[in-house]
Amino acid sequence: MSQRAELEDKHTVICLGCNAEWIDPSKKPGQKYAKRCKNCGRTSEQNQRIARRRKLDSEQRGMINALAEFCDTIEDTGGVKKDDKGYHVPVADEDWIDLGEAYMRACDALGRKPVEES
Ligand SMILES: [Zn+2]
Repeated sequence: MSQRAELEDKHTVICLGCNAEWIDPSKKPGQKYAKRCKNCGRTSEQNQRIARRRKLDSEQRGMINALAEFCDTIEDTGGVKKDDKGYHVPVADEDWIDLGEAYMRACDALGRKPVEES
C-alpha cells in the first residue's frame, strides 16, 4: 500500500446505508463508520446495525447452502426410502438411518420436497 493509500485508509469512514465513503481526519482508530453520514444522515449506530444484519444474513445463507448441498448429495445418489421399521434411509446406503432422517429434517427446514422412492 502506498503512503497515500495508507493515509486514506487510516482516515476513511464509510456508510453502509448509502455506500458513501470519505476522508474524516477526526476518525478514531478502530472506527469504521461515520458518526453521521454526510450523504444520508445515518448514524454510526445505524451502520453497526446494518453490519450485524448483513453478517447474520451471510451466515444464514452459508447454512442454507450447506443444507442444500447435503440434500443434493442424497438426491444425486437416489434419494431416500422407508425401511421396514418406517425410518427414512438413503437408497445408496440403507443402513445409514441417521443420514436419511437428517435429510428429511433438512428438506423440511428448507421447505424442499424430499426425493422418496416408493
Ligand atoms: Zn449514508
